Amino acid sequence: MNESALYSSTRGQISPVPFREAVLMGLATDGGLLLPNRIPDVEARLDSWRELPYPALAAAVMRPFIDDSIDDGVLDSLVQRSYATFTAPDVVPIRAVGDVHICELFHGPTLAFKDIALQFLGNLFEHLLAETDSSLNIVGATSGDTGSAAIEGVRGRANMHIFIMHPHGRVSPVQERQMTSVLDKNVHNIAVKGTFDDGQRVLKEIFNDISFKDQFRLGAVNSVNWARVLAQIVYYFHATFRVQESTGAERVQVAVPTGNFGDIFAGYVARRMGAPISRLILATNENDILARFFNTGVYQRGTVEPTLSPSMDIQVASNFERYLYYRVGCDGANVRALMSTFQETGRFELERGDSGFVAGRGTTADTLATIRKYHQEYGYLLDPHTAVGVAIGERFLSGSEPTVCLATAHPAKFGAAITEAVGEDIARHPIIDGLLDLPTRCVVLPAEKDAVQTFMRETLAG
Ligand SMILES: *Cc1c(COP(=O)(O)O)cnc(C)c1O
Repeated sequence: MNESALYSSTRGQISPVPFREAVLMGLATDGGLLLPNRIPDVEARLDSWRELPYPALAAAVMRPFIDDSIDDGVLDSLVQRSYATFTAPDVVPIRAVGDVHICELFHGPTLAFKDIALQFLGNLFEHLLAETDSSLNIVGATSGDTGSAAIEGVRGRANMHIFIMHPHGRVSPVQERQMTSVLDKNVHNIAVKGTFDDGQRVLKEIFNDISFKDQFRLGAVNSVNWARVLAQIVYYFHATFRVQESTGAERVQVAVPTGNFGDIFAGYVARRMGAPISRLILATNENDILARFFNTGVYQRGTVEPTLSPSMDIQVASNFERYLYYRVGCDGANVRALMSTFQETGRFELERGDSGFVAGRGTTADTLATIRKYHQEYGYLLDPHTAVGVAIGERFLSGSEPTVCLATAHPAKFGAAITEAVGEDIARHPIIDGLLDLPTRCVVLPAEKDAVQTFMRETLAG
């Protein structure tokens, strides 16, 4: 059996499950996150992967993690369809700008990097459900980007409905329109009267109602789903190959604007597989629990502070547990002990440092100054999340190794921050400009489990 296509929990208390189950399960039943039993070493294959177009590279990178129940032809078709929705010919273009190489991950339907994983996840779910003629109702709560990317991934698909809650009147007009202007019959937007935390609470209550969960076959698309990490590993190889080609460098370093540790964890896996990445540069905004951890060894919760890069306003990073598992010697009991200490005290401490990472924190002032500098000196507009990564990437430039900076959103999604930085609203994209004229559909409900469940019942019965 291929151990890379069998999945175990970071907490060590489930029997290994195949890929299909790992994807449909989301969180493991022992509360941990799923990881492949073995990370494949692909160094011998790198040269044969170098010239592959993005979708073919995606199939090659994902192949070892997926068992024979999905054959090569099906996998090819899944990745081809997932990346045909991207508007850039190369899917993920790389541009040399100033001292760095910007890897543009935002050419998908919602203009944020989450499309890379969620377009694939939508196709994958559809395939897995069709195989067994079963159905899935995806439920999620969002404060912004994830909701629209999940909706775009699932819209119009067979055997699936998606219900996304957002806090009524508390997401940006662009984000609200990106969700509510999707009119497909299987897409259901719920504006919850309350805050994002109220939505999260209702979501938890719905998933904890086991009889409802089973009767309605609820599924999640949150960032702990292994298939999302898997799809993100691909662009680390892609960016490395392209930058090696243009610079002749042997290895590169990659700067990643980080929130939930999902994106950078994919980079960690790519590096362990043998991608020629010397180190990962972890960048946070003021919500810097992860930067503090890599610089001091202390993992300690703080309070969430709103910033110009809202998708990184996170204190407890759900994917961090995957990294922790490798840090403590792949020992589930160790992970359980640390997570329970964290649960009880809000803190734990490990030995400082990991030679594969450096880390820094970019403030609001750094974000604005970086957007301004790239606009003035290079005529290139960075979105505020990308700007945090670039600001920290510049702090760690290396003489011999080029620096790749992952660009996680198109600047037009965050027009207010761009205006604040450069004095004019110059970040435009036709998708965003067209949004305000589109018809929308959305229900407004109280932040109560019963109200949301009743709406789901009636919608699915009708
Ligand atoms: C989600 C998101 C991030 C953070 O990614 P993680 O995987 O949570 O670390 C950064 N930038 C943008 C634009 C995002 O939407």
